[in-house]
Amino acid sequence: MYNEIASNWDIIMNKLKEEFSISDASFNTWLKPLSFYDLKDNVIYIMVDYPTMNSNSLGIDIINKKYYGYIKSSFIDFFNKELDIKLVNKSDINNNEETTSNDTNNDIKKSYVHSNLNQKYTFDTFIVGENNSMAQAASLAVAECPGELYNPLFLYGGVGLGKTHLMHSIAHKILEYNPNANVLYVTSEQFTNELVDIIGNKSHKDGEINDFRNKYRNLDCLLIDDIQFIIGKDRTQLEFFHTLNALQDKNSQIVISSDKPPKDFDNLEERLQSRFNMGLTVDIQLPDYETRMAILKNKKNMDNLSINDDVLSFIANNVKSSIRELEGALIRLVAYSRLNKVSDITVEIAERELKDYIVSTSSKEITLDSIIDIVAEHFKITKEDIKSTKKSKNIAFPRQIFMYLSRNLTNHSLDEVGEALGGKDHTTILYGCNKIEAMLRDNSDPTLTNNVDILIKKISPQ
Ligand code: ADP
Ligand code: MG
Repeated sequence: MYNEIASNWDIIMNKLKEEFSISDASFNTWLKPLSFYDLKDNVIYIMVDYPTMNSNSLGIDIINKKYYGYIKSSFIDFFNKELDIKLVNKSDINNNEETTSNDTNNDIKKSYVHSNLNQKYTFDTFIVGENNSMAQAASLAVAECPGELYNPLFLYGGVGLGKTHLMHSIAHKILEYNPNANVLYVTSEQFTNELVDIIGNKSHKDGEINDFRNKYRNLDCLLIDDIQFIIGKDRTQLEFFHTLNALQDKNSQIVISSDKPPKDFDNLEERLQSRFNMGLTVDIQLPDYETRMAILKNKKNMDNLSINDDVLSFIANNVKSSIRELEGALIRLVAYSRLNKVSDITVEIAERELKDYIVSTSSKEITLDSIIDIVAEHFKITKEDIKSTKKSKNIAFPRQIFMYLSRNLTNHSLDEVGEALGGKDHTTILYGCNKIEAMLRDNSDPTLTNNVDILIKKISPQ
């Protein structure tokens, strides 16, 4: 196998690049310099060496944060075998030291967060229609010239219309052009919680609030999602105002999203209002039929689904309230087709299966907690088991299924899913998702496919 790895190295890496749509720039910078070092006990040791950089630690951090899961699943895929990956820092080889995957370098700013980003939310996967063309164009412009054009960029629109997708796309693009950029995506709730954790604790030290400020005020780009949650919360709003000031002073890009435009907030301070208005405010509207159809077709192609255009058109005609609903309807039909072994979904089936879905367009909210409950019950294990670190297959496997379902049925980031599991690392989550996704794609375990379909039905019942 040693020789097989050595001789197939380039093939595997190029496949990885294709499969995970990694840009040439990122690939050449981060992945190309990797090389095969050794194989021991099913662990592939990969040597990391970035001769053009001062040290390898930034690269190791980026590989761990962004690419580790991809690399691992590519090797597993290729050799169809459980394998582990470990990074070896070339500078350490003389000392015979290994840098393992969990070894993150503390010198690297923690705020360098690829980890807060969903890899699927990029400009490439964002369908442009009349409803969102302004928002998309402004986002792209900001990503290409951060801090120079519209600052802040304020995106607003209803639920499930693509605000978060666009924000992640901006962050990905900025990092693609400049992998060293200090980019942070947070929801306004995360921002609030972090602040409250510090100031709510009476005995907090000045150092903690300074750390918070250093983290937020030194960014090159801050993307803050769903700002409506902090409007009216005085202390948070004040801190945010000063953050905004500091960032604008150093020409850092700020991107804000909200469910409504600044002028519609009743108790938005005037000075914050005027800050928001310094940049550009753009809305995202409901998509029209053509855009809905294009989104469905794109999703169908991306996920390699066999659903005919009549059915897609039926969905596009009937599900109008948000793109999340649109995707949800498609997923339901796919689950139905797998579960009932019906390869040909007809419009009649779609009509029947999506009846309630279409009547009540606002389906029940799916939370990480409700998914854990359903998965635990389904596999007859406890919720605590799922959140535990137990490695036995009857627990670890349902846990990975939970990861997969969470990522596909909700909008939560890898970190958030990790958090729901009692603080697991995002690479663990990514690995779990990729593994289940690959198994479903190959249908290598029909029981799994069946279980996943049943779970989807249980999680989003008719
Ligand atoms: P919001 O943040 O406005 O509530 P999201 O960005 O979370 O909405 O979008 C909901 C879902 O719809 C996501 O899965 C997203 O990828 C998808 N989506 C939204 N807009 C588009 C689009 N224009 N093209 C493709 N997918 C989209
Ligand atoms: Mg959102």
